[in-house]
Order: sequence, then C-alpha cells, then structure tokens
Amino acid sequence: MSLPVDCLFCQFVNGTLETEIVGQNQRAIAFRDINPQAPLHVLVIPREHFADVATLAAADPAALADVVELAQEVAMDEADGEYRLIFNSGPEAGQSVFHVHGHVLGGTRLGWTPA
Ligand code: 5GP
Ligand code: ZN
Repeated sequence: MSLPVDCLFCQFVNGTLETEIVGQNQRAIAFRDINPQAPLHVLVIPREHFADVATLAAADPAALADVVELAQEVAMDEADGEYRLIFNSGPEAGQSVFHVHGHVLGGTRLGWTPA
C-alpha cells in the first residue's frame, strides 16, 4: 500500500495536484477518470486515505456512505441515475491505485465481460 504522502489520489484531495472535480461532500470527492471506459466514468473517493473498500467500511462507514451518495449524485446529474459502481480490490481484480475508489460507469448500455 502507498503511504498517503505518496498517494496520487491524496494529492487530488489536498490540492497538490489538479484534477477535474465534478462533485464533493463532507467526506468524499468525485473526479473524472483520466482513461474513461464509458461516456460517464468518474472516480469517487473518501477524502481520507484507506487502501480498499473493506478497510474503509470497517474504519469509517460514514465515509463509505458519503462515497456512495456522491456516486448516486453524479450519476443522477450525468446518466439519469443509472450506473455501475465498481470497487476493484487487489491487483488481481484490477486495482492499481491503493486509495479506495469507486468507478462510476454509465451513459450507455453497459456490457458485462470482466473475465
Ligand atoms: P483501478 O485500476 O485502481 O481500479 O483504477 C484506477 C483508475 O485511476 C484507472 O481507471 C485510471 O485510469 C485512473 N487514473 C490513474 N491515474 C490517474 C490520474 O492521474 N488522474 C485521473 N483522473 N485518473 C487516473
Ligand atoms: Zn491516498
């Protein structure tokens, strides 16, 4: 796991690096994925650093609730509230950034071919 000081997404939260933020609430922010896989592809993350969604759920359920609420808001704004919310957990599942993030995907009819 990256230390928060080296973490790309922590740098988006604290403003050290710029990104296109499309929504935020008390404990979470949302920004566009740099390599979109659907017309809507936004990442929702807690402001605080946790490696994965299970760690976040155990440590700060209110922050996880804010992440999910923000995903819903972005999808309501940009995809009529119909979307997929994915948390890759571990390298084998495709996780490459170890600051928990939900992928909010939508804006078209989505396929289903993860393997
Ligand atoms: P993971 O593979 O960990 O589930 O998802 C990481 C996501 O972060 C990828 O979809 C990738 O495109 C996105 N990403 C990686 N680097 C950056 C960046 O510098 N800015 C933004 N906005 N997204 C990034
Ligand atoms: Zn982080």
